[in-house]
Amino acid sequence: MQKFFRQYGLLVWLSLILITGFCAVLLSSYVVSRETLQRGITEQTLPITGDNVYSEIQKDILRPIFVSSQMAQDTFVRDWIIEGEQDSAVIIKYLKEIKKQNRAVSSFLVSDITQQYYHADGALKTVSPAEARDQWFFRVKNLKAPYETNVDPDMANRDNLTIFVNYRILDYSGKFIGATGIGLTLDTMKRLIDSYQSRFHRNIYFVDTKGNIVLSSSLAKRANNNILNTAGINTIAAKILANKKNESQHLDYKTETDSVLVNARFIPELNWYLLVEQELGSELKPLHEIMMVNAGIGTGITLVVLIILLVSVRRYQKRIEKSAATDALTSLMNRQAFDFVFENTLRDSERSRQPLCVALLDIDFFKKVNDKHGHLVGDHVLKEIAMIAKRSLRDSDVICRWGGEEFLILLKNCTLEKATSIAENLRSTIAANDFSRTTDLARNRLSITVSIGVAECKGKETEDSAFERADVALFQAKENGRNSVYFSE
Ligand code: GH3
Ligand code: MG
Ligand code: MG
Repeated sequence: MQKFFRQYGLLVWLSLILITGFCAVLLSSYVVSRETLQRGITEQTLPITGDNVYSEIQKDILRPIFVSSQMAQDTFVRDWIIEGEQDSAVIIKYLKEIKKQNRAVSSFLVSDITQQYYHADGALKTVSPAEARDQWFFRVKNLKAPYETNVDPDMANRDNLTIFVNYRILDYSGKFIGATGIGLTLDTMKRLIDSYQSRFHRNIYFVDTKGNIVLSSSLAKRANNNILNTAGINTIAAKILANKKNESQHLDYKTETDSVLVNARFIPELNWYLLVEQELGSELKPLHEIMMVNAGIGTGITLVVLIILLVSVRRYQKRIEKSAATDALTSLMNRQAFDFVFENTLRDSERSRQPLCVALLDIDFFKKVNDKHGHLVGDHVLKEIAMIAKRSLRDSDVICRWGGEEFLILLKNCTLEKATSIAENLRSTIAANDFSRTTDLARNRLSITVSIGVAECKGKETEDSAFERADVALFQAKENGRNSVYFSE
């Protein structure tokens, strides 16, 4: 483990930095995107939807108000009442026409003088303060405003929500003489709610001042419920119902699976609250998908970068190790690496009781080669001798460049006799070689000779002592005319 950290510590740190950085970027971008999205929904999308729905409502309401105001100010209507409501067929015909032309659900007129209730279908009746369903008339009678709107949420068919406008009729001196108006279906609003629901997954519904859901899109599940006891929204229901100002309220609540953003506003014309909500989860889905893709790409890139790094570090390390152990000119093992190998080989041979020999090779009069042919030729000779030595030795033998023009050879599992013969063979191969062939020298033959001293490592002998004996043998070879192999007994 310690070794691993020593070797790959940098890599581990780099990975940690990369992964941490990547996670931080991913996480912060997610948080920012989520916040932006959430803010967009609460501050723009939902209020805009609310405004649209509200303006549609206002549009829908304006028409019946306008028609009712025309009816209330019609001199024919006023005169007919003032003149004693002579012929009811006339006013019924009028109401029928109004209903037809405006495609209204109903059109009606109540006289304050006779308390008679006339409507398009012709049925007549008298309104009474004692009747609960006639209460509206007596409310309108005392109204300060010229009219009131009254939405009928309890219609049998919910798809055709009806709005009634009850307009005050005044005589020419401003005295209240009756009420008239029409009932119209708020069909556009219903269509709008459904389209928002299906297109944007926005849930739109209306609740009355007591929290009962009075109108919702056909897909909404909560119709007929009360928000005060509907799990989730009940946490904010009281807050919604407390606000009687016609202003947007940004709220949110949590369901078991999701969090829901809500925009609520009071609609005075209907005496209802308009609620627009959106589940955050469905909006975050694309964001989650992008995050997953990003995480995948990021992990992939991180992995690729780490693999490339690992491979290059390994290759680089190997190259460094190799170059630290290799002699640049001859590509042989250098002295530092050889020391380590020699030590191990010596121990091995001691353990296995197999003979081990060293041979020290020195080029004869090499200085002269340099002096005469230049250093480049000298270098070439060194390289070629290294090559010849490698070729003539066994794979198990180790050869190293010991110094300037000296080579040390380790002959494993080899007796002194055998080692001397191998050295002799190497010496004669070198002596027979023409070193001029691959140089750009003149065609003159360039012969090089070497002297070799051989010694067998004795049991428990140190590297230095074995080397010293080989050196003595080499010295003898030099002394006795060079180009020869001597061995130490
Ligand atoms: P001897 O037969 O007694 O060994 O004589 P020598 O000239 O070979 O011995 P000496 O030790 O006097 O000279 C060795 C020369 O080897 C000296 C040095 O310039 C040369 N030499 C050492 N390393 C290199 C090298 O890397 N390249 C070249 N071209 N010459 C080198
Ligand atoms: Mg020398
Ligand atoms: Mg020499």
